[in-house]
Amino acid sequence: MNESMEASRSTPQPPLSERGIACPRCGCCHFRTTHTEPLQSGRIRRRKVCRHCGHKVVTYELPPHMIKQ
Ligand SMILES: [Zn+2]
Repeated sequence: MNESMEASRSTPQPPLSERGIACPRCGCCHFRTTHTEPLQSGRIRRRKVCRHCGHKVVTYELPPHMIKQ
């Protein structure tokens, strides 16, 4: 029959702010956000885990309404 299975799964693309960082250990850019916490300064602290090696990083991001000036 038809054995050519197409692996055309639509992987959800993370927003640009999450694509900017790369894992310092393995160099990949595939992170999974495990924790999101708004700070008093208005920024957002996100804890992310590398999908490849499990390396954890913490990013401080500005919400969209603060980036727009
Ligand atoms: Zn990694």
